[in-house]
Order: sequence, then C-alpha cells, then structure tokens
Amino acid sequence: TGPHTAGSEYAEPFLLAVLASGGLDAEYVRGERNTLYRRGENGEEVPVTDFVGGYGSLMLGHNHPEINAYAKELLDGGTPVHAQFSRHPYANDVAAALNRIVQRERGDDESYYAIFANSGAEANEAAMKHAELDRGLRLAALAEEIDGHITEVTVRVADGTAVLPAGSADSVEELAAEVRRRNEAQFARPPLFLVPEGGFHGKLAGSVQLTHNEGYRLPFRALAAQARFVPRDQPGALRKIVEEERAKVLDLTVEGGEVQLVERDFPLFTAFVLEPVLGEGGIHELTPAFAQEVQQVCAETGIPLVIDEIQTGMGRTGTFLAATRLGLKGDYYTLAKSLGGGIAKAAVMLVRRPLYRGQFELAHSSTFAKDSFSCLVALKVLELLEAGDGAVYRTAAERGERMLAMLRAVRDEFPEVVKDVRGRGLMVGLEFHDQSEAAAEPLRQVARSGFFGYFVAGHMLRAHRIRVFPTSSAVNTLRFEPSVYLTDEEIGRLETSLRDVCAIIRDTDGGSLAPV
Ligand code: PMP
Repeated sequence: TGPHTAGSEYAEPFLLAVLASGGLDAEYVRGERNTLYRRGENGEEVPVTDFVGGYGSLMLGHNHPEINAYAKELLDGGTPVHAQFSRHPYANDVAAALNRIVQRERGDDESYYAIFANSGAEANEAAMKHAELDRGLRLAALAEEIDGHITEVTVRVADGTAVLPAGSADSVEELAAEVRRRNEAQFARPPLFLVPEGGFHGKLAGSVQLTHNEGYRLPFRALAAQARFVPRDQPGALRKIVEEERAKVLDLTVEGGEVQLVERDFPLFTAFVLEPVLGEGGIHELTPAFAQEVQQVCAETGIPLVIDEIQTGMGRTGTFLAATRLGLKGDYYTLAKSLGGGIAKAAVMLVRRPLYRGQFELAHSSTFAKDSFSCLVALKVLELLEAGDGAVYRTAAERGERMLAMLRAVRDEFPEVVKDVRGRGLMVGLEFHDQSEAAAEPLRQVARSGFFGYFVAGHMLRAHRIRVFPTSSAVNTLRFEPSVYLTDEEIGRLETSLRDVCAIIRDTDGGSLAPV
C-alpha cells in the first residue's frame, strides 16, 4: 500500500477523479526506457509499456543512464545552478550547438540568438513577446516617419512650394488632422496572430490564445491578443484572411509640387505560429502545399514565422527539426520537452539575427531559466542526439516506420473501426471512427462522453499494461510517442492491445471500455 492518506486529495483532485473514472489513476513509482512501473495492489511494481513518452519529452526514454549519471556528476560537483546575471557559458554552448544543427538542416548560414525559458508555453510566449516588441518598434518608426512627412508637407504648403490637390481639404492643417485621426484608429487596433486550425501552443495566458481548442482558449480570451485560425486544406484561405485583415495607414508626400495622400501597409499581424506536425490537434503533418503558401505569404507581407518544434523537434520525426522535411524556414524556433532529457525543465526560443532586438533580454527573464543544470543537461542531450552522425534521427525514422506499418495493418484489418493512421517518425497517431451514433448503447455512451480516447486508454492500461493517451484536442486519436529505444517486442504488445480494442468496438457493445 502507498504512503498516501486516502480521502485527502488536494493536488488537482478533480483531475484525479476523472482519471479514476476511466481507470487511469495509476501511481508510477519508477521508470526506465519505455517502461513505467506502477504500484500494484500489494505494493509490488507492475511494468507498463509507455507510449505517451511524457507527451513527447522522452525521446531518450525514462531515466537515460548517461543523462542521469551526468546529472549526478553535476550536482556532486556543486554546479552553480542559480547564478543569475552572470556569465552563462553553458547557455552559450547550447545556443551554439543549436545554431550548428539548425544551419545544417536549413542548408544556410542564418544565425539565431537564444532566449531560455522553463516550459514550452513560456518559450512560445517569449517568441510572441519578442515579435510584438519588434512590431511595436516598427510601428513607432512608421508613426515617426509619417509625422515627419506631415510636418514637411505643412511647411511646404505654407511656403508655397507645394499645393493641396483640387477638391481636397480646405487647409493643410485640416488634411493633417484628418490623416492623424484616421491613423490613430488604425494604430489602436489590437494585433493578431495567425495559427493553423487545430494548433496547440500552450496553456499560459498568452499562448492559450494560439491554441485552437475552445475549451482551453475561450474562458481566457479577454486576457491576451487573439489569433485567426487558418484552414489547412483550403488553398488560398490564408491569403484571403490576410487580405480581410489588411490594415493601411495614411501618409502625405509631395509629387510634382502637389500634396498626395498615400496608403502605407501597417503591420497588424504579430506573427504566424505553427507546428510542422500538429501534435495535440491530432497528429497532422502540414502538407507541402500549405507549408509553401505560409512561407510565401509571410515573406510577401513581412509577417514573422514562428515554428513551434516543442513536440516535433529534437529528432522526433527523423530530423532534428520537423520543419526540415517540409523545407519550412522560420524566423523563430521554439524547443522544449526532450531538450531537458526527461529530467530538467528546459526550453529555448531562437530568433533570427536580423530580427533580434537586444532590449528583449531585459524584457523577458525568469528566476529559473538558463540555469547551469538544465543547460548542461540539454548539451548532453544534444551530444547524444548528434552522436554517430545522427544515428538517433535515423533510428527514430526507422522505428517510427515500423510502428506505422503495424498500425496500417491494424487499420486494414479493422477499417470499420480505424479511420486513419498517420504521422512521422516517433510521432504517430491512430484515429478511430466516431462511435457517437453506434447501435450499441454502451459504446455510444462512451463516444458521447467526450472522453472516447481516454476510455480506450483505460482499457489498454487495465487489460494490457499499455500506457497511451489521445491527443488533447482530438480525443478520437490515440498518439504514440515512445522513445527511440522502442523495441519490436513493444510494438508487438501495442499491436495486441489495439487489435483487442478494435475487436471490442467492432464485435461487442463496448461495455468493457467503461471500467467496472
Ligand atoms: N507547443 C506544443 C507544440 C506542444 O505540444 C506543447 C505541449 N504539449 C506546448 C507547446 C506547451 O509546452 P509545455 O507543456 O511545456 O508548456
């Protein structure tokens, strides 16, 4: 029996009750590679094969021996974990290593400055804030330039070197006032972000506005800037949105001795933020056509592109960045999850050098970020990923292909149960057909609960000792994100459990999916 007092739950008791209702309230006491050991009824350890992989934070598995040995060494050696506002050579080493990797994958020599953070959501908020700081400075420069033009035109009309066009304002002062009034209204417009439909970028006050799931986003919409969500399957949809929201301000120039009223583009969009493979939105890789349209529109309109590689990065899809395969190039990249090797909380935001605003370093910081422990662990992780000329990336691709082949076989055997299997590398998903209109009452109820994938996960845990979860915004899709040490035997165990689940859905009333 555990050391815990029954009946006194203070740490998120509501969530625990929900987990318990689905049979998912296991207590894990130890982890290694792709195995978590749950506490059994008599206190014994019961092995569970873990396909959740810390929601993508365990590319190298639970308690990687080399990472843990290094962490112990660091602590035993008295590493200065908290030495804020001093030289941080270890942080610089992480940034330098990331620059080398990103340059290799992009095939260019763009360099990136790094801002460190504690979580994925914080890294995204750092990117949002940096891009907004940059937009604000560009706006200020634009306002100042227009102001200069208004002054110049006023002077020239007064000294007779320029005239107002016929039929315009009565006086240059009146024209200037009108320009200022209309510009003020534009400058006061709140900024917008662009995000693909289904996107997930975190749950903090700012980043949750970039998370499409309404349950997470809407209660907090008054707290932060809003996003326009772009359909991923409609060519031209992005251009249409950008056109709809297009903002112009007025400026004055003199041409041929006559004052001209001209329109100037106004940067309303702070950034386009995307995941190369949507994770929590159901494991959807962006299509090359969509990626290309985003890249083109951003380049044409000067909207910075933030590539959120928090779940997809660190080699998970077979390259260090998932954007590499799509040929997508970002102005910003965010990384977290596996960067901390499964033991440290580490995140980083990279900004392309020409866009970088040095004052951001004082505008964003945290007590805990950029510390020696997380940076040195991150360096060790990068060293392990890069070893053997990227052996881990190749293994991730190969293991993922193997897992996907198994899932395809299951889909082919149960086409009435499995709607789709998809993904890349060690980030794959299996989507079930919606059962909310199923003939059998218990199955229909499970589907209508809104927790379908969680009930399936509960069954897989109870009956097969397999740990899986649905993606958080698409609960009919199970996600599989094991570590690179995935064995054929583990794939086989997953296959057995999925065949059982599919047979239950196809051949029974589904009653066994709800726990007894
Ligand atoms: N971005 C993406 C793409 C994610 O998948 C997640 C977490 N699932 C986050 C951001 C947020 O990261 P964190 O949970 O570390 O705040």
